[in-house]
Amino acid sequence: MSLENRLINVFANENAVSREIKRLLKQKLEKSGFVVPREFDPCSELVICVGGDGSFLHTLNRYDFPEIPFVGVNTGHLGFFQEIYPDQLDEFIFKYKKGDYSIQEFKTIGAYISSGKEKTRLRGLNEIVIRGDKSITAHLNISIGDSFVERFSGDGILVATPAGSTAYNYALGGCIVDPRLSLLQITPIAPMNTTAYRSFTSSLIVPPELSINIFPEYTSESTILIIVDGMEYRYQEITDISINFSKTRVKMIRLANYDFWNKVKSKFL
Ligand code: NAP
Ligand code: MN
Repeated sequence: MSLENRLINVFANENAVSREIKRLLKQKLEKSGFVVPREFDPCSELVICVGGDGSFLHTLNRYDFPEIPFVGVNTGHLGFFQEIYPDQLDEFIFKYKKGDYSIQEFKTIGAYISSGKEKTRLRGLNEIVIRGDKSITAHLNISIGDSFVERFSGDGILVATPAGSTAYNYALGGCIVDPRLSLLQITPIAPMNTTAYRSFTSSLIVPPELSINIFPEYTSESTILIIVDGMEYRYQEITDISINFSKTRVKMIRLANYDFWNKVKSKFL
């Protein structure tokens, strides 16, 4: 197959090491016959992110979740999504050209936020967090499908995808979910469970066909903060937040030896 016009986007975070690896990678890709455009090109066949999980999540968000496969070079701290290390650039290019890889698909999560007359849509890969802004207690009426389930009181709740189950969700005591499963996990953040307030204290696992609806209650001037993959959003007077899987999928290149549970073991134990 001719390599003519085979475009590969390369992005790096601001860190000096990442920028140096980006430069090196660009050189190597061009030597192998690929074209590395200066700006994001939607006709590219691959996006390479140099950095940690955070820079990968930011790149996804910035380019509006393109359908192009991603691969990450880990210069970050954890790099759970990242597949290659900086000393594996040649090996990666060799295997990529041969087609010696598979693609792992992740479902993304979406929220419809109704505030006043407006409706906004947010999308994420890891999770959507709904919490009280400025240290206030959040009171959230939560329904799953058509059933009202609880009036949550506490810091807030997090709804994690399987891909995000190993991130903030795990730090909150949520379960690690194999991404081959299709489910959303509602994990409480500092739930109050007293005679005054009653909230579930463990994660709730929800099938993909049911939507999770959240109706915030306001006390005085309190507001709600929404955080998607670490990025904050604020809206006036949110009345309803509806959370579901989104149709968008994120594709990641995996080399032959990739195994989810091996990755979990190597990053967590
Ligand atoms: P960050 O503060 O660097 O993220 C915290 C840690 O989470 C980093 O080590 C990051 O990896 C890792 N991470 C991100 N996505 C992951 C995943 N799917 N599985 C396992 N670990 C993952 O912030 P950031 O880099 O912008 O990442 C945003 C994410 O941070 C959010 O989506 C949220 O899940 C997570 N977060 C975690 C906590 C917590 O654990 N208490 C609090 C706030 C946010 P890198 O080191 O490679 O970046
Ligand atoms: Mn990070």
